[in-house]
Amino acid sequence: MKDRLIFETQKLKNGMMVYGKPWDVPFVIVRFFVPIGTRNNTDSIIAGSAHFLEHLMCSRSQSFPGKSQFKKFVSSFGGEFGAATSETFTEYHLSIPSAAFSEIFPKFINHIFNPLITEEYILEESGIIANERKRKGIWFPGDSKLGMHVRTGWQNNNPYTLRQIFGEDDDFSNMTPEKFYSLHCAYKDPRAHLFIGGSYDARLAMKTLEQIETKFNDLPVFWKKASWQKREYHEEKCVESDRHIYYLGGIVDSRDPFVFRGITLLGSFLTNNVNGMLYEWLRRDLGWVYNINFGASVSIAPNIGAWQLSLPLNDIGQVSHVRSKLHQKIYGAISDQEQIDLHVKEKLTKQIFNYQRISDVLDDQIFSLHYFGKISNEEESGELLRQAAYSSFLKRIYNTYWHPDVSGEFLALPINS
Ligand SMILES: [Zn+2]
Repeated sequence: MKDRLIFETQKLKNGMMVYGKPWDVPFVIVRFFVPIGTRNNTDSIIAGSAHFLEHLMCSRSQSFPGKSQFKKFVSSFGGEFGAATSETFTEYHLSIPSAAFSEIFPKFINHIFNPLITEEYILEESGIIANERKRKGIWFPGDSKLGMHVRTGWQNNNPYTLRQIFGEDDDFSNMTPEKFYSLHCAYKDPRAHLFIGGSYDARLAMKTLEQIETKFNDLPVFWKKASWQKREYHEEKCVESDRHIYYLGGIVDSRDPFVFRGITLLGSFLTNNVNGMLYEWLRRDLGWVYNINFGASVSIAPNIGAWQLSLPLNDIGQVSHVRSKLHQKIYGAISDQEQIDLHVKEKLTKQIFNYQRISDVLDDQIFSLHYFGKISNEEESGELLRQAAYSSFLKRIYNTYWHPDVSGEFLALPINS
């Protein structure tokens, strides 16, 4: 089978990278990233600026001065234009029919690089952004009481405040067109990069981008490191829990892709619903759980990766039984090389079902580049998995990140228990 993650990559003479994935479809997906995000809203850069600038840029430009004019223009071709601000990047994206590529793409780049900002337009966006902040505010940084407890009461996994992301009303009143124009200079940076997939004219894409003059703009950065708020076992009443949900989790101080691979492999090995040890023990043998959840995340801010296991149990007796046996069971499972081999073999075979859509391929490679510093093809990621598939390595991961001395636990209880 042909490696589906091989991209055509090209470094332009202004330093920008283009990651292209030709694909035989009648449309093209464009995702363009400029290196300014939430983490840069610090020091002289007013809280919320990166996201605010994204709103202003989406709304108007020198060449499309009417409100949402560019968006409407793209829509008239049956396409879509949007944007988002993450920790590190502001992303502008387009989905358009290939037939309209040469018409729209140069205008898209032109739109992003030629701001039109006035005090009136700043005022216009302030109300919208204040609403956006309010909507996210109730359980921030989670989206439920339980989610909030996981990230602020149990772990302290909250790298950016709501204010750093969105800004407050006082921040808005200090924002001026001059400050935004000067911040916008950071868009013209050699670290800006383009992901593009589908049927498109690669030469036109590169020629258009190459016209942007770039220079490195080193913006200030700030985030809060992850730590434990309350690592020891405790109980927390949450409206969302209908059962006794037992949480076990850890904080990961590494962004090494091999470590991340080890953690996710450990998770799928233990919890998969065919022969995962936890699944067999808790569902098949004891009949106590219906589902077992495992998740691992990684953040761009260094020292923030986290994993967590959640087991919805039925009463406190089951919880104490699980707590007393869990670690011994996990250690037993990762000592079984034969089972690890079986799991990895299945995992590798199942990969043929991945990447059915071009957006899956782009998502995967954008994740790789932004979190681990490079895109990687199927051959390379398969190799990483094979290298992680050793009992000795999984034991090392377990001892460093999962062992009771380093992991944390809590029990989410139904409100009426
Ligand atoms: Zn927004």
